[in-house]
Amino acid sequence: LDPEEFRRLGHRFVDWVADYRAGLGELSVRAAVEPGWVRGQLAADLPEHPRPLEELLAEVDRVVVPASTHWQHPGFFGYFPANASLTSLLGDLLSGGLGTQGMLWSTSPACTEVEQVLLDGLAGALGLGKEYTFDGGGGGSIQDSASSAALVALLAALHRTSGGTWRETGTDGRERVYVTAETHSCMAKAVRVTGLGAQALQVVDPAPGSLAMSPDALAAAMAADTAAGLRPVLVCPTIGTTGTGAVDPVREIAQVSRAHGAWVHVDAAWAGVAALCPEFRDLLDGVELADSFCTDAHKWLLTAFDASMLWVRDGAALPAALSITPEYLRNAASESGEVVDYRDWQVPLGRRFRALKLWTVIHGLGLEGLRAHIRGHVALASELAARVRADPRFTLATPPSLALVCLRVLGRDDALDDRADDQATRAVLERVNASGSALLTHTVVDGRYVIRVAIGSVGTQPRHVEALWTALREAADAVRRGP
Ligand code: PLP
Repeated sequence: LDPEEFRRLGHRFVDWVADYRAGLGELSVRAAVEPGWVRGQLAADLPEHPRPLEELLAEVDRVVVPASTHWQHPGFFGYFPANASLTSLLGDLLSGGLGTQGMLWSTSPACTEVEQVLLDGLAGALGLGKEYTFDGGGGGSIQDSASSAALVALLAALHRTSGGTWRETGTDGRERVYVTAETHSCMAKAVRVTGLGAQALQVVDPAPGSLAMSPDALAAAMAADTAAGLRPVLVCPTIGTTGTGAVDPVREIAQVSRAHGAWVHVDAAWAGVAALCPEFRDLLDGVELADSFCTDAHKWLLTAFDASMLWVRDGAALPAALSITPEYLRNAASESGEVVDYRDWQVPLGRRFRALKLWTVIHGLGLEGLRAHIRGHVALASELAARVRADPRFTLATPPSLALVCLRVLGRDDALDDRADDQATRAVLERVNASGSALLTHTVVDGRYVIRVAIGSVGTQPRHVEALWTALREAADAVRRGP
C-alpha cells in the first residue's frame, strides 16, 4: 500500500468506524451467535492472491459485527468498561503510523520521554505524591494490562525481599503473597506464573461486616508466617474490587506490611482514575506509603485498550529485578545511566508507543473533560442506587461504589428468601441481557447472586440508564409474576 492508496482507503476505514459508532445504539449489545458460527462463515482457505481491501469491510459487516459484544455500546454495563474513545483511536493511528518500537530510550527517545512526562503529570493529577514521579526518584510506565502490572510488581517484590538475590537464585518455597477473596485473579495468576506455588497465596480475612481486607488479620498472618520462617513478599490491597468496588484500607495495610518488609502493590485498575476528581481523592488514602500503584486508562479513562498505568516509588526496583543486557542491546545512552529503558520495566522486550493515545485523550479533553466523564457516571450510578433503594422489588447488595451498583431482585414481597431472591436476580439478568438493549454481568457476594451495573461506557447518557431501569423493573415484574 503506498501512502496515496493508504490515504484513499484510510478514509473508507475511518468512515466505517464513524458509521459503526454512530449506529451503535441500534445494535444488540450482546452477540447472538452460537459457538462456531464465525468459523463456519469464513473460508478456511486463506487467499493466495491480493484482494481489494474494501471487500474486507463487507466481511466485517457480515461476520464480525453480528458476532461481537459491543463494548462501546451505551447500554454496556457489564464487567468494567473498556473505554475506546474516538479521540484515543486517533492517537492509536499515529502510534501505528510511526510504527515505533520503544524498547530502549535509544530506539525512540520520544516514545520513552512522552510516556515519562505524561505519567509524571498524571501522578500529580491523581495526587499520588512526588515519590511516584521520575523527578522524585520513582516513575510510571504504561503496561499492556493490570495483570502485567501485578506480575512485574511481584517480580520486583521477590527481588527486593530476597535481599537482591532472587534474580540469581530464584524462589525457595518460603515466599508468601497476601490477598483477599475479592482480589482480582491476576495476582493469583502472577503467583502461578512466578512458580511460587499455590501455598504462597494467603487469603486474608475481611474486616467483620465488610468485604475489605482486615489489617489485623493481615498483621496476624504475617506475624505467624514470619515466626514460621516464611517470607512476606507482597500484599495486594485493592481500591475498587472487581466484584463490588470494595476498597481495602491501604494506609493500615501499608503500615503492617512495612514492619515485615513486604512490598505493597495497590491494584486500582478500575477505580484509581477517579482520583483525578478531588472529591474522590480520599479513595487513594495511604497510597503514598505503598510501593506500586496501578490504574487502567483503558477501563474508565477514555483510552482504548491497552494502557495500564503502573507507578513505582523506587525507579530502580523494576530494572534491578528485570534487566538483562545482551550485547545487541548495548548502547551509549543506556550506559550513561541518564535514560529510562522501559524494556526493564516490563516482561516483553518490545513496546509500542501507547503514550500517544493517552496524550491525544488528555490533549483533546483536558483533565477537566476526564473529570466530567467520571463525575457524570458516578452521578448516574447514585441516581440508579436511589431508585433501587426506593423500590420494594429490589435491594442494594452492597453500598454503591463510584459508578458501580450491585443489586438483587427480591423474589417475594412477604419475606426475604435467599434462594427465591437468587433465582429472581439471575432470571432478571438473563431477561435484560436477552433483550439486547443492555448488557449486565453478575458476581456472588456472601453466597448470594448479585447483578453488577457498571456505568462507564463512552456513550452512556442518562437516557440509557433510564432505559436500563425500565428494563430491570419490567423484567422483575415478569419474573415475580411467574410463568
Ligand atoms: N484488577 C482489577 C481490580 C480489575 O477489575 C481488573 C479487571 O477488571 C484487573 C485487575 C485486570 O485488568 P487487565 O485486563 O488490565 O489485566
